[in-house]
Amino acid sequence: MTPSADLIQWDKRHCWHPFTQAQTAPDPIPMASARGATLTSVDGRTFIDLNASWWVTTHGHAHPAIAAAIAQQAQTLEQVIFAGFTHAPAVNLATRLSETLGGDLDRVFFSDDGSTAVEVALKMAAQYHINQGTPRHRFVAFRGGYHGDTVGAMSMGQGSGFFDAFQAMLFHVDLLDYPATWLGDPTPELREALVLSQLDDYLATHGPQCGALLMEPLVQGAAGMRMARAGFVQQVMERCRAAGVLVILDEVMTGFGRTGTLFAFQQCGDYPDIICLSKGLTAGFMPMSVTVVREPIYQAFMGEGFERALAHGHSFTANPLGCVAALASLELFEQEGSLARIGQIAALHQQRLEPLQKHAKAVRPRVCGSIGAIDLRVADGGYGAEIGPKLKAFFIEKGLLMRPLGNTVYLLPPYCVSDAQLHQGWDAIEEALDTLL
Ligand SMILES: *Cc1c(COP(=O)(O)O)cnc(C)c1O
Repeated sequence: MTPSADLIQWDKRHCWHPFTQAQTAPDPIPMASARGATLTSVDGRTFIDLNASWWVTTHGHAHPAIAAAIAQQAQTLEQVIFAGFTHAPAVNLATRLSETLGGDLDRVFFSDDGSTAVEVALKMAAQYHINQGTPRHRFVAFRGGYHGDTVGAMSMGQGSGFFDAFQAMLFHVDLLDYPATWLGDPTPELREALVLSQLDDYLATHGPQCGALLMEPLVQGAAGMRMARAGFVQQVMERCRAAGVLVILDEVMTGFGRTGTLFAFQQCGDYPDIICLSKGLTAGFMPMSVTVVREPIYQAFMGEGFERALAHGHSFTANPLGCVAALASLELFEQEGSLARIGQIAALHQQRLEPLQKHAKAVRPRVCGSIGAIDLRVADGGYGAEIGPKLKAFFIEKGLLMRPLGNTVYLLPPYCVSDAQLHQGWDAIEEALDTLL
């Protein structure tokens, strides 16, 4: 095996890492293998993956059932163009997803990553209204929302503050505030009512020009695991529906069990018009995403001429390896009782976070399904908070993969994580509060 030092040297010569200032970042850690909730580096250190490797790993690393499904498919039909052709893995996955999502979320468009799933949703929403003969050119989203790094997704995520360098490339998006809440929050209704009245005003003025509202339901991930109540999401959806504004839910992060149900919208009493899924879709094995729409939206693209069709597609659309990984993962949710396990993870988060409600150096403890989070009391909040890199290094030193978002620390584990491993994460957070701040 290539020694660790050589890998680092050649990496630094030729690799460009995401969301990284290479000049000041610590050396990347060369990884050799992974199993379950544990990652092993080339030099033999182990790390508990309490970040699900950027929120993608669900059942655990290198799960044998998924690995086997991919290996078998790779020797049978690894890839074929998805225009004019189809195959069992895609048909089976589309059918299974439609049944699982319920309602009339019956049409599945495949692409490769979360950002693209969002781009596709926006283009579908825009053309849907055009095809109806009533074009609507505005979009509305929430401050803090993050939807990916392509131009449309960045535009919708302008409120996240990640994209200042690209401001000139972005299109206009209307933004609403976001009523983040936490354990023991005395006034969530107040903040929700304010945002809902913003939305009412907006719909009264711009409703007829607004094509779609985009939101991350229940949890804004990259903004720092900011959580909102299900009733709020439901009321947003209701208002949009009444105004003819399509509801696009970005469940790229919240999908596949993270919030306690398979999809976050299942707690919100309504179906979206369009849903974007990626990250956990293939259990973290293959890059794949889907944009699933209600049947009437799909029907609006029917016609004699190509101009009513969706002019969008990717080289790897519906890649068979991704499809079989996703199918195997959905099986595992049932076989392994993942949702019940997520309930236990949530209870453990709650048990560890409740005492921290009174901690002098921490604020806003919060839990949603498998996600537990808390903010550190520092002068500079946000993604660039100075404490971020220090915390990251502190956790790595302890053998924990945890990537704080600015001054927010959180656990978002794969579901095979043990209670002991979760406690190690929370113990480290408590130690950080007492020694680093
Ligand atoms: C990660 C993420 C995206 C972007 O997905 P990529 O696969 O990184 O392009 C979009 N929306 C949300 C909510 C995400 O968390």
